[in-house]
Amino acid sequence: MKEYQKIKGTQDFFGDAILKLRYIENIASSTIKHFGFQEIQTPIFENTDVFIKNVGEESDVVSKEMYTFKDKSDRSITLRPEGTAAVARSYLENKMYANSLPLTKLFYFGPMFRYERPQTGRYREFHQFGVEVYGESSPMLDCDVILSAYTIFSKLGIQNIKLKINSIGNQMSRNHYSQALKDYFQDHIHEMCTDCQRRLNTNPMRILDCKADKDNPILKNAPKIHDYLTDESKSYFDEVIHYLNQFSIPYEIDLNLVRGLDYYTDTVFEFIIESDDELNGLAMGGGGKYSDMIKSMSDRDIPGIGYAFGVERILAIMDKQNAWKELNKGVDVVIIGLDEESKLCGFHLMQELRTENLTVEMDYKNTSMKSQFKLCDKLHPSYIVIIGEEERKTNIYQVKDTSTKTQIGISRNEILTYLHTQLSIKGGN
Ligand code: AMP
Repeated sequence: MKEYQKIKGTQDFFGDAILKLRYIENIASSTIKHFGFQEIQTPIFENTDVFIKNVGEESDVVSKEMYTFKDKSDRSITLRPEGTAAVARSYLENKMYANSLPLTKLFYFGPMFRYERPQTGRYREFHQFGVEVYGESSPMLDCDVILSAYTIFSKLGIQNIKLKINSIGNQMSRNHYSQALKDYFQDHIHEMCTDCQRRLNTNPMRILDCKADKDNPILKNAPKIHDYLTDESKSYFDEVIHYLNQFSIPYEIDLNLVRGLDYYTDTVFEFIIESDDELNGLAMGGGGKYSDMIKSMSDRDIPGIGYAFGVERILAIMDKQNAWKELNKGVDVVIIGLDEESKLCGFHLMQELRTENLTVEMDYKNTSMKSQFKLCDKLHPSYIVIIGEEERKTNIYQVKDTSTKTQIGISRNEILTYLHTQLSIKGGN
């Protein structure tokens, strides 16, 4: 028989992995709600133009990595490779600017698709958590958005995270800078990859973002955007840094940071991990400000800012740093019945406890203590309730606390209250 396999670069999430994914989603979304954000869910696929126009034709994402196909009506459709362009499309299409001025604050969590070479931390289907804010341009807002990301990382218990930040200026600064880069790279371009050779004419700033040439010294010595910033962009960036300095976020100004997507202006940032192993420098995510994106999609001039994080990367870092303190893996209760009639009593008790929000399991088939304890070994319940002939007669059931290994008899009518109290003391309910 043919064995089916998942598509290269995709993953099945089950067992601990799905618990971890949901844990990250829960912490991220509950934290971001305190910053005034509301959830948005856009379709998994969009018209291809949405991404070409906003992410940029020259970006790696659009030029090489999109899952694009024709549907049965010959329309060009793309599985979303990122969230920003789709959220901006939805913001405009649903006229969200009309009733949520001055700011619209949105967050999303979901799968993204990129045809990249799968390797550690890089998949073809991966998840992103991201936020978008539209409506205002303000250094304090930039700082607040960065703080929201940092707060999520702190709540997740991730350590040694560092912010890298830079300004890439406005369109005018970028035009001057692009020309300077063109002049600089002209003499060295034959030493660089074929993509960079093409980018020299189409979009020289992309060369700085090249994955193939990232350690090439020619790149490191290239002119820096800061020397081309307008006074306005410079003082905007100074203000962002001024606000950041009031909080204890470890950060570094990285003059080579430009970010891979076309829509950024002024503030750009990335969060990386600092460690003494292969994870050192791994990007968890990043974002920036986009002053012109909404203008390029509509006749409205509305600034935006946002970021996106790779959930698989967060998960890998949390594994490495052993940060899963509150991952609730076990069930609350396993019920053991030592004969058919006791199993039926247990079955009733199970339904009662479940309607009162406890997670309860039982072995439906076996009646021997030994085989039913096998289920306990697998499910790691906080409590085990044991019912046999004696317990049925006295209406006093045996309740075992698996953490202290102590067992006491509790009256049938009081079991629910007892378990609720004990589990809430332990923080499980
Ligand atoms: P980007 O949208 O390219 O700025 O990516 C933001 C974050 O998403 C990155 O820093 C990664 O954490 C994550 N990411 C991007 N591409 C992938 C991928 N192919 N597999 C896993 N995570 C990814």
